[in-house]
Amino acid sequence: MFPDLEPFEIDRMRRFGECRVFEPGDKLFTAGKVGPGLIVIPCGKVQVTRDDGLGNHHEIVTHGPGQFLGELAQMAGRPSLADATALETVRSLIISPDRLRALLVAEAELGERIMRALILRRMGLLELGAGGPIIVGRAENADVLRLRGFLRRNGHPHQLLNSDTDPEAKALIERFHVDPGQLPIVLCPGGQLLRNPGEDELARCVGLVRAIDPNRVYDVAVIGAGPAGLATAVYAASEGLSALVLDCRAFGGQAGASARIENYLGFPTGITGMALMARAYNQAQKFGAEMAIPDEVSRLCAQQCGEDPFILDLHNGERVRARSVVVASGARYRRLDVADLDTYEGASVHYWATPLEAKLCADQEVALVGAGNSAGQAAVFLAGQGVKVRMLVRRPDLAETMSRYLVDRIGGLSNVKVEAGCAVSGLEGSNGALEAVRWRKGSAGEEVRQPINHLFLFIGAEPNTDWLAGSGVKLDGKGFVLTGEDAGGDRHPLETSKRGIFAIGDVRSGSIKRVAAAVGEGAQVVAALHSYLAATTVKAPTLAVMVPNSSATSPSAQAQTS
Ligand SMILES: Cc1cc2nc3c(=O)[nH]c(=O)nc-3n(C[C@H](O)[C@H](O)[C@H](O)COP(=O)(O)OP(=O)(O)OC[C@H]3O[C@@H](n4cnc5c(N)ncnc54)[C@H](O)[C@@H]3O)c2cc1C
Repeated sequence: MFPDLEPFEIDRMRRFGECRVFEPGDKLFTAGKVGPGLIVIPCGKVQVTRDDGLGNHHEIVTHGPGQFLGELAQMAGRPSLADATALETVRSLIISPDRLRALLVAEAELGERIMRALILRRMGLLELGAGGPIIVGRAENADVLRLRGFLRRNGHPHQLLNSDTDPEAKALIERFHVDPGQLPIVLCPGGQLLRNPGEDELARCVGLVRAIDPNRVYDVAVIGAGPAGLATAVYAASEGLSALVLDCRAFGGQAGASARIENYLGFPTGITGMALMARAYNQAQKFGAEMAIPDEVSRLCAQQCGEDPFILDLHNGERVRARSVVVASGARYRRLDVADLDTYEGASVHYWATPLEAKLCADQEVALVGAGNSAGQAAVFLAGQGVKVRMLVRRPDLAETMSRYLVDRIGGLSNVKVEAGCAVSGLEGSNGALEAVRWRKGSAGEEVRQPINHLFLFIGAEPNTDWLAGSGVKLDGKGFVLTGEDAGGDRHPLETSKRGIFAIGDVRSGSIKRVAAAVGEGAQVVAALHSYLAATTVKAPTLAVMVPNSSATSPSAQAQTS
């Protein structure tokens, strides 16, 4: 986490940065504000601290000669999560975010050590809950769960102060004159106070997402930051295309919700979906792909003529212009057709099984509906955390829809009980909290009622293609995007009925709904993008993208020049 750099290594880094001197007491960066970048300290001492919201500073680490300051926020050019103050005169080498990304690519061995440290430091902050916003409220409150889930899925640290028990929470409530009905509140690192904010408001306040330059024309806009979209971003950006990735929720897509992915090549012991996707997200940013998360695309205006860029309208009124579009918007979980489901969504009905939910359900019995692999993984994960799981399955046998290894594993767990051939018939509860689940075996069977506070749903997914309405992109009968021959004409296998618009991953009609397949299509589509971009002309010039140690433009731009 805190490697020491040799003087000759710092010398090699000098061409990427500029020197600056700080006097004792000077701030090198401030929480909530975008800092200058990675700061190498050939000489001097710097203390990194976090604010507890009440003005008290707690030390995180003190850096000395040969060390460097920064974590992932510095690579992405996002606001700092901590404060850094010079303890003595500091001679520093400042490497701006774009030059840092160039260094990481150009200096393979040094780059690996720095990247590893940046990731480990973020993980340390996530574990400590240090450096991000402070949420004040009750842990089981639906809005607290929503905000925590959002920050966790975006790999952003935060701290929860229980409004009933934490003295610091009470002090903050008094200090800001907050009425209990206004909880939860969120105190952002920049000092702003939000009262039960939406995810978008919170994301903008903590600097997760910024305004998009409406005049810039990207080589490719990728809609969806699931495995398919992130793979496109990694390959497109590393091959010199300017790429913008938009996602309305968080990076990782459905895969980010997987408790353990065991069938992805190269991970024999399995890996949590969040860990796999966080690696891809950081890798894409290292190569210079831009992320706009959370930003929802509400409409795609297909270009009228080959020279105009495509225009994407965002939910917040912003616009994105791009010469090509990759639709990687995947699928969304299906909801159960049972009365009052929405009343319990948030606090008691869950579509993911992560450590957050497992903690919430510790030592309790939960109902879990579904018989696919995602249901199996969730059941195994929850059972492993000590949760008693009642699996409610429509079919007579799990083996019809679930991989053998998961069926066997479930068979060996004493705290998972499978109720086959049954369907949920009702939910009971009060004030948004679930108290009991009812189900029936067959249509005429007797109804069973079981006191249960948490219901998990893993009953499949529907394509996220509403936003394509009116774009002219052809869909199949179930709403998945048609590509290749099915889309008509002589299309590339991943190209839609509209030239220059491609579709990959779960959203594509006929695709294999697996992480590896989505990643493969994400890599494959980049070759098609190169051919398409090289064959088309463009009115607005694309900007130069980050290529280590050079001012090279993207291949597509080079193609135009030549
Ligand atoms: C719980 C669970 C466990 C799973 N486990 C496994 C496993 O172990 N192994 C395996 O191979 N597969 C697994 N899968 C399936 C696998 O996750 C999917 O096949 C894969 O994630 C598909 O990737 P994708 O990128 O095509 O789409 P998605 O992962 O669905 O990502 C699409 C992204 O697009 C975003 N989006 C949608 N509409 C818009 C819009 N209008 N604007 C902006 N963004 C938008 C969404 O927010 C989402 O992040 C699992 C799925 C689930 C749900």
